[in-house]
Amino acid sequence: MPSEAATRATNEAIQIHGGYGFMKEFPVEKLYRDVKLMTIGEGTSEVQKMVIARNLLNMFD
Ligand SMILES: Cc1cc2nc3c(=O)[nH]c(=O)nc-3n(C[C@H](O)[C@H](O)[C@H](O)COP(=O)(O)OP(=O)(O)OC[C@H]3O[C@@H](n4cnc5c(N)ncnc54)[C@H](O)[C@@H]3O)c2cc1C
Repeated sequence: MPSEAATRATNEAIQIHGGYGFMKEFPVEKLYRDVKLMTIGEGTSEVQKMVIARNLLNMFD
């Protein structure tokens, strides 16, 4: 899912920044928190996947 890809990308960005990536003075810390919400808000990734799978399976009924 795009939200999970974005979470992985920002996680890597923090890792590349090292200790600075963890500090609020650097925007990458906020990017990670903002992006992580996308896998939780408006339905978690797990629940979204179940909804998508159910819809796809219903297409063949
Ligand atoms: C800031 C914020 C904004 C939100 N905005 C919205 C919104 O606009 N609209 C909306 O509808 N909801 C919204 N939510 C609710 C959100 O989408 C989740 O539904 C809710 O946070 C999950 O409830 P919970 O915290 O009790 O976690 P739980 O339901 O206890 O889930 C905990 C974890 O278990 C996983 N899980 C739960 N059930 C299953 C299952 N059957 N199979 C596999 N994994 C499972 C979840 O994916 C999650 O990772 C928002 C939540 C937050 C924090």
